[in-house]
Amino acid sequence: MKELLSRYPVSPQATQNTHINADKYQQMYQQSIEQPDVFWAEQAEQFIDWYKPWKQVSEVNYQTADISWFKGGQLNVSYNCIDRHLASKANQTAIIFEGDEPTDDFRVSYQELHDNVCRLANLLKTRGVSKGDRVCIYMPMIPEVGYAMLACARIGAVHSVVFGGFSTESIKARVLDADCQVVITADEGVRGGKKIPLKANVDAALVDCPDVHSVIMVERTGVEVNWQDQRDVNYQEVINHYEPMCEPEMMDAEDPLFILYTSGSTGKPKGVLHTCGGYILYAAMTHKYVFDYQEGEIYWCTADAGWITGHSYIFYGPLANGATTLVFEGVPTYPDAGRCWQVCEKHQVNIFYTAPTAIRALMGLGDELVEKHDRSSIRLLGTVGEPINPEAWHWYYEVVGQSCCSIVDTWWQTETGGILITSLPGAVDMKPGAAGKPFFGVKPAIVSKEGDVLEGEARGRLVMTGSWPGQMRTVYGDHQRFFDTYFSQYTGYYFTGDGAKRDADGFYWITGRIDDVLNVSGHRLGTAEIESALVLHPKVAEAAVVGYPHEIKGQGIYCYVTLMSGVDCQQSLTEELQALVADELGRFAKPDYIQFAPGLPKTRSGKIMRRILRKIAENELENLGDTSTLADPSVVKDLIDNRIVHG
Ligand code: ATP
Ligand code: MG
Repeated sequence: MKELLSRYPVSPQATQNTHINADKYQQMYQQSIEQPDVFWAEQAEQFIDWYKPWKQVSEVNYQTADISWFKGGQLNVSYNCIDRHLASKANQTAIIFEGDEPTDDFRVSYQELHDNVCRLANLLKTRGVSKGDRVCIYMPMIPEVGYAMLACARIGAVHSVVFGGFSTESIKARVLDADCQVVITADEGVRGGKKIPLKANVDAALVDCPDVHSVIMVERTGVEVNWQDQRDVNYQEVINHYEPMCEPEMMDAEDPLFILYTSGSTGKPKGVLHTCGGYILYAAMTHKYVFDYQEGEIYWCTADAGWITGHSYIFYGPLANGATTLVFEGVPTYPDAGRCWQVCEKHQVNIFYTAPTAIRALMGLGDELVEKHDRSSIRLLGTVGEPINPEAWHWYYEVVGQSCCSIVDTWWQTETGGILITSLPGAVDMKPGAAGKPFFGVKPAIVSKEGDVLEGEARGRLVMTGSWPGQMRTVYGDHQRFFDTYFSQYTGYYFTGDGAKRDADGFYWITGRIDDVLNVSGHRLGTAEIESALVLHPKVAEAAVVGYPHEIKGQGIYCYVTLMSGVDCQQSLTEELQALVADELGRFAKPDYIQFAPGLPKTRSGKIMRRILRKIAENELENLGDTSTLADPSVVKDLIDNRIVHG
């Protein structure tokens, strides 16, 4: 196995003229921590256009979970994402659309974005939508999903985007939870050559949602759909009757902007509420600095609009910065697994942001499909969603990035609105597998289970001291759940639910979810660490590790392993893998069981759902918990059928 470096210094070649360098990071970080209100006031003036200044920069009370930023300040998020750019950028491309088929693409300028958003905002108004009303958006990845979000923001309506891959039950639950009265959808979605019956799913969901009075449907494929004349509106048929002008509503910084449900990795999804002022400032600022976005660059984030990454880093952050953002309708493996690189070549993408799950999947399919496309335009690669195993990091760095791009690992959550921990390009060294260092104004801490704050090199639970503008404000309709989930465990801190360690250089490493931390013979071990060791093996594509009760050790280690395509599993491989983990982490970490699995249970956003794997390893099959956000429920059956039943 090849020698892997564990630290890559800030490379002068990749980081020339970055917005931030090491000295600037130190100086700005220091100020942001010592005088947060002064710091954030300056940023808010620099990044955002306000109609009226705020009365108070921040007011934060973690005893009651009451948080506000820039209260009394007035702004409009859609104005900040569109109108203010028109003077200099009316003809610049705001959105590059790349369709499911490689031949299908077009560009939307800032002027066109403005006109489309205004028309849709006016249509929403005539359907009775006004400030504070909730609108559900259930769409494929076409520019109209962005128009819909921004049209809501323009008139002060609160959007709730539901991922277009979810089915009827998930739509229904989210429409009811947020009491949405309007749904924006499409006739069908197209992904990877397959059609998804969005309108039919909405029709079925709404049977149980009597309060929805309007469904606006964008025609994507033109398929025949059921129609309710009073309720349904055909977007294409009516949209040009509406004025391409709509005065933006003046919003208070603390008025709600959107509700978005978490991925459901650890339990029932939570309806996270974000507000206008703090969120848009934080999304814009992190987008500029973390991706080192430079004027005129082409930026592509492969997330779906149904996730927070799509909200903050496809639409709100990039558009607030006047960037060109690519919206991709398809999947990385269609028509073949070289699609991402083909799109990068075609549109000369400079910044590419994706998830470890995609990186591991593409890595498993070989280098040839990457190398066949020219990637010389790419200068920065990002990752988000799960810890990235060093093996996958190296593949991303060496093969995709040809060893000359910065890689930014970005740790954050739906709840945090934007990136909190990252390796800032040009400022912070890269350590494969480490999330990096705190962003400006972010004060992470590591606490023991009992709540003692640990200093220096430490391992424990990741919490945040103090607030940042992008922080969520409540769980929609359930403030008690907000308090209970995030503030009740450790008084005075925001509890992330993740385990982490801090190394001697002050880098943070995410070791996995708190519920997943193992205690084997008195050693505390993160699932991410064992998984990364397993993935070092050239035949292993992906791994998920869980604990199960063990009489002697306290917990035993049960591993699920997916092999590279074309490799078959032999008994000797189990032994090799056990030895590999023991070598990497110590004998105590040697896996007890290894189950080879063709697929792992993942959320729709691509995260491994270990809570289900834990139940299977514990042979507790009756109640697998909330599986509504599972991408492919059929993998669970295979895992159960082939589980290793033990003592
Ligand atoms: P739920 O809260 O419903 O269980 P979820 O936590 O998966 O779902 P998200 O908000 O989409 O919902 O995901 C945030 C989580 O993703 C983080 O708490 C962390 O565990 C993981 N994560 C995100 N980015 C990274 C990263 N760069 N490195 C490690 N873990 C990450
Ligand atoms: Mg979470």
